[in-house]
Amino acid sequence: MRRALITGGAGFIGSHLVESLIAEGLEVYVLDDLSTGAVRNLDEVRSDPRLHLHLDDIDNGPLLTELVDRADVVFHLAAAVGVKLIVEDPVRTIETNIHGTEMILSRCARKRKKILLASTSEVYGKGQDSSFSEEDDLVFGATTKSRWSYGCSKAIDEFLGLAYWNEHGLPVVIARFFNTVGPRQVGQYGMVVPRFVQQALDGGPITVYGDGEQVRCFAHVSDIVWAMRSLMNCGEAVGQIFNVGSDQPVTINQLAEKVRELVNPDVEVVHIPYAEAYAEGFEDIRYRVPDVGKLRRVIGFEPKYDLEHILADVRDYLATESGLAGAFD
Ligand code: UDP
Repeated sequence: MRRALITGGAGFIGSHLVESLIAEGLEVYVLDDLSTGAVRNLDEVRSDPRLHLHLDDIDNGPLLTELVDRADVVFHLAAAVGVKLIVEDPVRTIETNIHGTEMILSRCARKRKKILLASTSEVYGKGQDSSFSEEDDLVFGATTKSRWSYGCSKAIDEFLGLAYWNEHGLPVVIARFFNTVGPRQVGQYGMVVPRFVQQALDGGPITVYGDGEQVRCFAHVSDIVWAMRSLMNCGEAVGQIFNVGSDQPVTINQLAEKVRELVNPDVEVVHIPYAEAYAEGFEDIRYRVPDVGKLRRVIGFEPKYDLEHILADVRDYLATESGLAGAFD
């Protein structure tokens, strides 16, 4: 593989993937409408001649056709993301996630270009108090709760990807990302780690929603980029779904404490009822832990970063952004 197309390449995860592929010597085509991404995410590689940046919508058919034609492989990361954004803007979520994926899959199928589809742990929906594995049932809430529109739209993407593989032999790999964090992730769409770290930097309080006993696992974006690249290079992965993330659980209360210790021991941690935190139509997920056995078996996935390291990285990044560079050296 010499040329890669990355949709959503100016986003948080996408920009790290772009950097990593450029460092490897690939030509990288980025298509991004900057809905949640930012050109400055690509500052490190902006002047590299191997970066080809297209700021446009995924539903620009002629451009998409041209970019897919040029690429050897495609990473499809463009999507509406972030629980807050999804709950507040379900029309955009559903249309972007379903229509954009249809557009790219049909073009990849015409030219048989291998594609990695970014999916999400949201497809598992709710319930269950043990880890999620790829063959588990999907359990969504009512359609009146707009949060589920995200998981449902991504589940349709998965069905479509698998159908292209089964009916047309299109090489597709599906990666279900669990909570991923690291530098360049912003808190404005709801992501808890940058929110807590920024709150601590600003003097608090740290706002825990609900009782704080909900459980998540956080992976560093560098480990996730490694997994994406390995899946793309792995023949055995084709036509398959993989959980991608950390399997080390932490409650949101524990997370808040860790952020407090690491960033600013003077800040207060407060609990806020869900009804005040989110727009109507929100329902939280209590327990989200992946079974990553399949990822370990097929590509030898072993995350390098633990939660302390992840939080320190996010702290250093956000401190620099807030003009506090070097404050934690
Ligand atoms: N959360 C929180 N305070 C915040 C933002 C999020 O307590 O300021 C909680 C949120 O309700 C959820 C968890 O942190 O239980 C993870 O939220 P995030 O939006 O990062 O990811 P997801 O819910 O998609 O796992």
